[in-house]
Amino acid sequence: MNRARLLVFNSALPVLDYRVPEGMAIEYGSVVVAPLGPRQVLGVVWEAERLPGTDVPDAKLRPLHEVMPVPPLPAPLRRLIEWTADYYCAPMAAVARMALGSSAALRGGGTMTEYRLTGLEPKRLTPQRAAAMDALDGEQATIRELAERASVSEGVLRGMVGAGLLEPVVVDLDRPYPRARADFAQPELSDDQTAAADRFVAAVAKGGFAPFLLDGVTGSGKTECYFEAVAEALRLGQQVLVLLPEIALTENFLRRFEARFGVPPVLWHSSLKSTERRRAWRAIVRGEAQVVVGARSALFMPYARLGLIVVDEAHEVSFKQDDGVRYNARDVAVMRAKFEKVPVILASATPALESMQLAEAGVYEKIDLPARFGGATMPDIQIVDLRTEQPERGHWLAPRLVKELKARLERGEQSLLFLNRRGYAPLTLCRNCGHRFQCPNCTAWLVEHRLSRRLACHHCGYETPPPEACPECHTADCLVACGPGVERIADEVREILPEARIALVTSDTLNSPAKINAFVEAAENGMIDVIVGTQLVTKGYHFPELTLVGVVDADLGLEGGDLRAGERTYQQIAQVAGRAGRGEKPGEVLIQTRHPEAAVIEALASGDRDSFYAAEAEARRDAMAPPFGRWAAIIISSEDEAEAREAARTIGGSRPDLPDVLVLGPAAAPLSLLRGRYRYRLLINARRSAELQDVIRAWLDPLRFSHGVRVAVDIDPYSFV
Ligand SMILES: [Zn+2]
Ligand SMILES: [Zn+2]
Repeated sequence: MNRARLLVFNSALPVLDYRVPEGMAIEYGSVVVAPLGPRQVLGVVWEAERLPGTDVPDAKLRPLHEVMPVPPLPAPLRRLIEWTADYYCAPMAAVARMALGSSAALRGGGTMTEYRLTGLEPKRLTPQRAAAMDALDGEQATIRELAERASVSEGVLRGMVGAGLLEPVVVDLDRPYPRARADFAQPELSDDQTAAADRFVAAVAKGGFAPFLLDGVTGSGKTECYFEAVAEALRLGQQVLVLLPEIALTENFLRRFEARFGVPPVLWHSSLKSTERRRAWRAIVRGEAQVVVGARSALFMPYARLGLIVVDEAHEVSFKQDDGVRYNARDVAVMRAKFEKVPVILASATPALESMQLAEAGVYEKIDLPARFGGATMPDIQIVDLRTEQPERGHWLAPRLVKELKARLERGEQSLLFLNRRGYAPLTLCRNCGHRFQCPNCTAWLVEHRLSRRLACHHCGYETPPPEACPECHTADCLVACGPGVERIADEVREILPEARIALVTSDTLNSPAKINAFVEAAENGMIDVIVGTQLVTKGYHFPELTLVGVVDADLGLEGGDLRAGERTYQQIAQVAGRAGRGEKPGEVLIQTRHPEAAVIEALASGDRDSFYAAEAEARRDAMAPPFGRWAAIIISSEDEAEAREAARTIGGSRPDLPDVLVLGPAAAPLSLLRGRYRYRLLINARRSAELQDVIRAWLDPLRFSHGVRVAVDIDPYSFV
């Protein structure tokens, strides 16, 4: 190669061509540094015929600077980057950047310096240093990360280094991870599990693209099944990627993994420290990281020897990314397996309708685990009709649920109350004038958090202490909380069961791995009587003494009225119900609702999942919604309302006129103001036959907007706000 076409990691720059200087060895996928004006840019050498650009004559080409000392991005990953950019109408550079993970890691291994407390305890400390000492107990990280964690300036910490309070620790970035052992512990599997595991193991041994849908009821032991496939990949010296929807779930997963394979897996997620990030990325590209467990961003890493992909809790909405490159990690995982020619397992107790359809069509091989492991029975599900069984005034738990909670406490068993709403109350208003507290940056009410004494916006993070007086009518002590959040439910439990030990489980209270571990341990050791939690408690946990699950408000998820509201409600309640009765004692589930006749509630009560999926499929077929038709959204935003409206009008005005494409809008988005930006939306509904992405590109590419306008395309949208 004497000339090279580069995909540069900057969406604002075009494709660029360079001369390859004599003696420089590059191949497709090589990561290189190239000159651009007075600056340098980072890019990947790409097949010129796959990356259209303007051809520059040889004589005008500038030479590449250097090749980074890392393996080239493999061809299957390059194809995945192209596919993702094309399918989701996203810039290729933005997709490719996700493969890089950590640009610092490109510079080779070596060492980095982290700092930790020395244990020295001086008699006198400035308040800032004292606060830092408290915050940094047990921590080790770079000065910048520690400063962030302790909320002090880097200068304060450097002063502490000088005073001997913090000491440097040299971290070797290429130190190897301990090796996982395929046969560390032999699992005990049921006949169903063995059959499923054998199928996966055979697919891994054979190699080649093989998509599976592992459909197992809660408590059926799906993880143990796919662990056998992981073991087989380990025996073959291959790498495995396991995607989990939330970091909160990883702690539990890590413990099970370590029990099976002897060591923890390699983690990849956004809150890794910079040293951990570099170390993990380098081990991944060199093929040394055997099993990588991560959130959706782990999907684009340049694995050297990928042999298997697992997507656990594959129905989870959080696999859909809603900013930047708006991709669905579940779907991209299947595409990656296709390009890599390896098996992929989508595991779920409540698969997405899209996945069920693909299994029915024979695209995915469906593996069922119809029974719970160890002979445990499925919980008994009952409906509490809130119209006839009303809670006491100002309370949210119906008498029947209260009675069952008391009975569990007397028997020494655990209960779980589920309400997917953080904080104390979703709406706060003034008793005197009715003023409602709204976020200044978003079309959203401020949520009262009584534990942390603040009113907070869950969309942008704005928060303010609750005011002494109403800002509108200036009446003092006038605030009224409307509706319940989990904090309020916990208060109610405290009132009816004063002697109960209560754990509040939300992302506000369990915000670190240490806290999650402490909670799991306490729950497992019977130190907790009642768990009150948001969707954080709906999955992954296995508490043998938990025999009662109360769903405080089953109608909550149905209010939004979006395409997947019914399915999502079904999934969430089925998952949380699945926490009950996983040990020897049978479980009971009480679902509070005002709509017992709703299809989703009836399906939950009767346990008739098949007819629910059939009814959902029917409704979506009628609406030409996915997976029968295709949807896409265009979201226009600007800090200037008129500018946003104008851009939306321009887009609406040049809508395509095609028989198989229906364009709805533009209209102000339900969240018409978000993080200080005014928002408009268009929704596109197309037949499967339509070349949806081509239509959108042909429509939007020629349009030009004011500088402050952002136009985002969301293919297969999950969010309609
Ligand atoms: Zn007022
Ligand atoms: Zn806000």
